[in-house]
Amino acid sequence: MSSVCAAYLVSHPRAWRDEEPDVSLVSKDSTRVGARAPDPAAAPTGATPTAPAAPAPAAPLPPPFTVKTAPIERTFAAAAKSIGVDAGTTAILSRAFHDELDLSRDLKPGDRVSAVFDNAAANSANPASPTSSTSSTSKENDRPAAREPLAVRIVRGAQTHDVFLHKDLSGKPFYYSKDGVSAGPVFERYPLNFTRVSSEFSLRRLDPVVHRWQSHDGVDLAAPTGTPVRATARGVIRFIGHQTGYGNVVKIQNPAPYSTTFAHLSRFAKGLRNGSHVKRNEVIGYVGETGWATGPHLHYEVHVNNVPRDPLKVDLPQKTTLDGDQLKHFEARVAQLTALL
Ligand SMILES: [Zn+2]
Repeated sequence: MSSVCAAYLVSHPRAWRDEEPDVSLVSKDSTRVGARAPDPAAAPTGATPTAPAAPAPAAPLPPPFTVKTAPIERTFAAAAKSIGVDAGTTAILSRAFHDELDLSRDLKPGDRVSAVFDNAAANSANPASPTSSTSSTSKENDRPAAREPLAVRIVRGAQTHDVFLHKDLSGKPFYYSKDGVSAGPVFERYPLNFTRVSSEFSLRRLDPVVHRWQSHDGVDLAAPTGTPVRATARGVIRFIGHQTGYGNVVKIQNPAPYSTTFAHLSRFAKGLRNGSHVKRNEVIGYVGETGWATGPHLHYEVHVNNVPRDPLKVDLPQKTTLDGDQLKHFEARVAQLTALL
């Protein structure tokens, strides 16, 4: 129980351990869960061979989880709000789903969202029952409320997309896919297979074509003409066409705060235009030397909050993966929660 996800695992240790092979009991049959889960404090002293329900004060335990579902009629945010997800968590979830789904665009009427909430966390946040300090819940009362759902599923047509909560050591919530890989926007570092960096990012350099000192707001990646250039993250094309200097250029608005620019292309991928949505690793064009270029290369820019940053060094959202004990606990929880969604 020293792992970082202990905050959730200790919430229902009996249910989690005892019910794990039969997870459906946890959700749908609250009385049975209550009857089957003996009071941990009473168990050692109780040499009585009577049924576990014998200790008089042991009221049936409340079901550990609440599952809420709502149709997505207008926006994901509205649907999430209707089942009790606060705005901050909705923003986190929007990012979590972002590599798979664009929640502003991909959802249609008939889609729905489901979420599993931790009742113990909700109860501990509610001071309405001051006498409810039973031994089994007193520890949980010391913890701040956790309003984040433990699991969220978006059903989109025939597809389902699930994410599961995991908190890091500081208690910050993150959502992961069921295999323990962080969910959310992901950036590739490089948009193509290149042979070398022909010119680095710099705040001030002598431009070899116009022979003026100016900043180089990106990096030049040399590659043969025609080499495919891929979007480094999901996004929307904000410009595709020809610009002085850049030549044939694609500018993509990626998940905030990022945007990317791909210049000197010989040609664009078919079908792309302003407003097109592109996926990570989707081919958007091909290396060339249009515009101010001295040879075939890709000029690639990464902007963070509209400020150009060195594409080879800037921090980019990457996947992280749970491992070891964290992953074992996480997978057990995923199996339990998936049955509820
Ligand atoms: Zn350049």
